[in-house]
Amino acid sequence: MSTNLPGLHLVAGGPAKTPRKRHPRPSTMLACPRCDGREAVQTRIGLLLMADGRVSGGTPAWVCVACLSRGERVVMA
Ligand SMILES: [Zn+2]
Repeated sequence: MSTNLPGLHLVAGGPAKTPRKRHPRPSTMLACPRCDGREAVQTRIGLLLMADGRVSGGTPAWVCVACLSRGERVVMA
């Protein structure tokens, strides 16, 4: 087969029949294990200050905002 367009040609079989599923697991809303709050802030532990002044690396953690405002640090994920 050929087309009138230069550089283009038809491919046998066409597009894939079924698109690949990208999210096999269902999503669940993150909740605080202590107060059941749904608001979170992300923190990073162990950030590195680079020679050029940028901050990089660190281990991220999601912390409950409601518990944090009461002075408690509750990691949600
Ligand atoms: Zn909480």
